[in-house]
Amino acid sequence: MRVKKRLFIGLLSAAVGLILILLIFITYLMINWDQPINRIILLIVCLLIIVILGVISSGIAGIVLTIWSARTIPSLRHSMRVTLNLLFPVALMLGRILGISQERIRGSFIEVNNQLVRARREVFAADQILVLAPHCLQNAECPYKITLHADNCKRCGKCQVSELLSLRDRYGINLSFATGGTLARRFVQIYKPRAIIAIACERDLASGIQDTNPLPVLGILNERPHGPCFNTRVNLLKVEEAVLYFLKSVPVSKG
Ligand code: SF4
Repeated sequence: MRVKKRLFIGLLSAAVGLILILLIFITYLMINWDQPINRIILLIVCLLIIVILGVISSGIAGIVLTIWSARTIPSLRHSMRVTLNLLFPVALMLGRILGISQERIRGSFIEVNNQLVRARREVFAADQILVLAPHCLQNAECPYKITLHADNCKRCGKCQVSELLSLRDRYGINLSFATGGTLARRFVQIYKPRAIIAIACERDLASGIQDTNPLPVLGILNERPHGPCFNTRVNLLKVEEAVLYFLKSVPVSKG
């Protein structure tokens, strides 16, 4: 496991520790409270927390085992998903308190997500795959609008839009360029993909992965040599590798 993945898993474990402390505190109150009605309410809260703790603990165990073995555990898939959705905001909050950058935590979450998706080893037809790319990959001076029709691009080669279109044509997959989350969600509704390869910054990728849950999403971070949202780039080899992965489900190293 790389350090990156450990960061998010460590924060998830810390969140479980906090919930455990809360449970001990409520149990203490319950034992020492005089009024029976309040004790009953606290007992119900305790039982609820125990159920949540059980789901989260099995989810974290599932995540660690899946990453370690590079094989998914179908019986724990649901609790893994609940754990990721429930504890992601808690991990961000803990990170803020501990002075860990939100970008690093989101990056770690994306790494964990990618590993879990790869462990599923699912294979899809080309037309079931959608590559969702950010509009900022387009050269800022280009006059052609590619968000509604990617083929408006004249393939002049001044930005990577032309290469992504070639990749689309080579494999027969779907490709769209979105200006933000709303348009990205619209493309998902239009194409109804069964697998997504999303290219974006840490923040958009993390929220996109959660929005499209339970669809498998392989997230690829964009490169920002000129700052955010301006003439960004992407490692095309990583995009092609992700396409081939979904097409053939090629085994990958644990990384
Ligand atoms: S490759 Fe396409 S999108 Fe990029 S600058 Fe040229 S015409 Fe515009």
